[in-house]
Amino acid sequence: MTIDNSRNAWTGTGPEDIDEYLEACSEKSYPADRFIHARCSCDGDWFRLEADAEESAVKRTCVACGASLLMLDSAEY
Ligand SMILES: [Zn+2]
Repeated sequence: MTIDNSRNAWTGTGPEDIDEYLEACSEKSYPADRFIHARCSCDGDWFRLEADAEESAVKRTCVACGASLLMLDSAEY
């Protein structure tokens, strides 16, 4: 796993890279110490991830079926 954050966005090479990204996002508010990798109801496990680091809000969209989900308490923001 490798994360390239040299440009304007973080780009990973594997699902485990999301853990490092979310850990970095959460360290200033509620540090995350456990990660469960998502699986859509269609059984898809590839997602487009949109994150707002200032609001600590994250939305995932399943690449296979297009279903979107605001993660954790993101709907509050
Ligand atoms: Zn899906």
